[in-house]
Formats: sequence, C-alpha cells, structure tokens
Amino acid sequence: MNTPVIGVLALQGDVREHLIALAAADAVARPVRRPEELAEVDGLVIPGGESTTISKLATLFGLMEPLRERIAAGLPVYGTCAGLIMLADKILDPRSGQETFGGIDMIVRRNAFGRQNESFEAGVTVDGIDGPVEGVFIRAPWVESVGAEVEVLAEHDGHIVAVRQGRALATSFHPELTGDHRVHSLFVDMVRAER
Ligand code: GLN
Repeated sequence: MNTPVIGVLALQGDVREHLIALAAADAVARPVRRPEELAEVDGLVIPGGESTTISKLATLFGLMEPLRERIAAGLPVYGTCAGLIMLADKILDPRSGQETFGGIDMIVRRNAFGRQNESFEAGVTVDGIDGPVEGVFIRAPWVESVGAEVEVLAEHDGHIVAVRQGRALATSFHPELTGDHRVHSLFVDMVRAER
C-alpha cells in the first residue's frame, strides 16, 4: 500500500490536531523538530500558531535552511494560517527579523481579518473539494497577491484564503480544528502523487 509518511513541524502551534487529521486521512503522521526527522518524511504540514515564533524557533533548531532547501527541491508542504505565512515568499508586514521558508510566490498580510476577538467561522468553497469547507479563521492572514504560477483555490469576502503552487498548498483557515479531513486528504493525495 502506498501510505506516505507526513511530518508536522512541531516547534509551536496546533501540532496535535494536524497529526490526528493526517492519520484520519490515511497517512503515517509524525512530529518533526530536527533536521534528521525532516529528512525522513515524504511531505510536511506547517501548523497554525504564531509565525514570528515559528520563524525564531526554526532558526534556533537549525531547520530554517534545511527546510528552505527541501521545499525548493519539491517537498510537498501544506501550511495553515501561520503555516501559510511561513510558505509565503513575502510578508507585507513582517515583525522585524521575521523570516519565512518560502515556496509560494505570494504576498501575505498577517492578522488581515482582525485580532483574536474578531476570529470567525465561515463556509468556504475550495476548488477540488465538493461542497463547502467550514473555515475557522483565527487572527487569520489573507493573500494580497499571487504570481502567475499560483492557483487560487478559495476566496472569502473577496480575499484569497487558499492557494496552491505545484507541491505547496496553503490555507488561511484551520481544517485541522473541524473534524472534516477533506483538505488533509487533498494534501495526502498530493504527497502520494510524488512518491
Ligand atoms: N496571526 C498569526 C501569525 O501571524 C497566525 C494565527 C494562526 O495561525 N491562527 O502568525
């Protein structure tokens, strides 16, 4: 059977929820904290949390460069919320010193939908998935603009909230919090296609 091994970057954020969602979507899921662990996975999820913290810890754990290299070499990756920010080639309003892994030719705006108390849920229609996905938006970013190679998979209120460029997928919202594993299944299929 073609069961991919998919890591969840476990520096900060909602790692456990992604591990559960990936297992439900028929992948073998493991936390990744060290370069040796990164080397062993077929794909990687970058969770929601706080992108400034993930950026700092990635540098501290020696993962910034290895991850940039593997993503550039075609490692399938899926980022949710802070993870979407980490996959952006450019942040519009970075905190000083904040860096990203890159991989998607897009410019993102952090906290674009407002502060924590303006978090909300909304049905989102995602290309490639039948029927709306319940989108949980928590201090969510949106995508300001994308390059020619990027497919826009979903918008909410006229703002881009899901994108794909080749083997990199990203959503502003958190499917790992809803018990609906269709977006994770889409990603697991992307990883399977590359093995
Ligand atoms: N606002 C957070 C950031 O800038 C992202 C929030 C989230 O992942 N839910 O990293």
